[in-house]
Amino acid sequence: MVTTRQWLIAGRPRGRPVEDSDFEMVSIDLPPPGEGQMLLRTHYLGFDPAQKGWMENIADYVAPTQIGEVMRGSGISEVIESNGGKFPVGSMVIGSTGWTEYHLSNAEGLVPCDPDLPPTAMMSVLGTTGLTAYCGLFKIGRPLAGETVLVSGAAGATGSVVGQLAKIAGCRVVGIAGGPDKCAWLVEQAGYDAAIDYKAGGLKDAIKQHCPDGVDVIFDNVGGVILDDMLSQIATGARVVICGGISRYETGQMPAGPQNYFNLIFRRATMTGFIVLDWASEFALIRKRLASFVHDGRLQYREDIQQGFENAPQTMQRLFSGANRGKQMLKL
Ligand code: NAP
Repeated sequence: MVTTRQWLIAGRPRGRPVEDSDFEMVSIDLPPPGEGQMLLRTHYLGFDPAQKGWMENIADYVAPTQIGEVMRGSGISEVIESNGGKFPVGSMVIGSTGWTEYHLSNAEGLVPCDPDLPPTAMMSVLGTTGLTAYCGLFKIGRPLAGETVLVSGAAGATGSVVGQLAKIAGCRVVGIAGGPDKCAWLVEQAGYDAAIDYKAGGLKDAIKQHCPDGVDVIFDNVGGVILDDMLSQIATGARVVICGGISRYETGQMPAGPQNYFNLIFRRATMTGFIVLDWASEFALIRKRLASFVHDGRLQYREDIQQGFENAPQTMQRLFSGANRGKQMLKL
């Protein structure tokens, strides 16, 4: 028998930031694995801004959450015991394990980690993050060589991959991020052609300066005023990809509609939202493609790994304060 600590959902953070009191830690005993089951030990948890929406039950593309259930989230785990389970002892796998130190599984939803890369890559560049960047950019944005791509939340886990993929596609890429250090990293490490610090003010003029011929593809992770300013500079035939809207995740009311939406008409542009899960049948192939870019040195990825299971709630909060530098994870 194994004793495991788990974080349970204890609150619904609607219209406000996530607080420590939205979670409760408990300790339970797990029975030995039943026939066909494996016992897994979690090594890393992965964090995504969408987890807040899952706690609020506003995200209807996933099953509703219940107060008192294990906090939902992705994890990288190792098979430490198997009773005829699908993966041998010692295998590293990724899946929606929840915030738990140990768990039992019949392998449903678990994917083996790529043996040629560190296991954390399976959560960052080859995980939902990389897949979201790839699908949003290529399925919806459809960038052509020579076009200008503008990314908000550009220094984040998803945004930094989007920019590099757009560079691989031969585009000119401009990123918007908070603070000079993130902007410097975008240009010096992530290969962006230019970066704009939205916290410095004057965003609209800066976009005009860095995208003098207009923006062909917008990849938006932020929404609100930043989306509005980006819409003011779209080129004819632009594709606006709505990936996320983190600027509203902690506020009580919906943001005002974008004032510049009429540019979609003037510029014959489209604005399309997406949920990455819709391309799940292609994930294995897309992962191979992303891995090849990593192996040939064209795709860098950054991981922000905090320590200690007890710090899971605070680690999640880092996404909303902008403290994270790359894919937010926690090592147990
Ligand atoms: P991330 O970008 O690594 O982290 C979040 C970043 O958002 C922060 O570092 C911060 O960067 C920025 N931010 C936070 N509050 C902000 C605000 N009020 N205004 C402007 N920027 C703010 O997180 P991620 O996991 O890669 O997720 C990025 C986006 O992708 C999220 O919107 C998420 O919901 C979305 N997503 C969508 C799908 C899909 O299927 N559609 C799937 C996965 C993720 P700064 O310091 O630059 O402000």
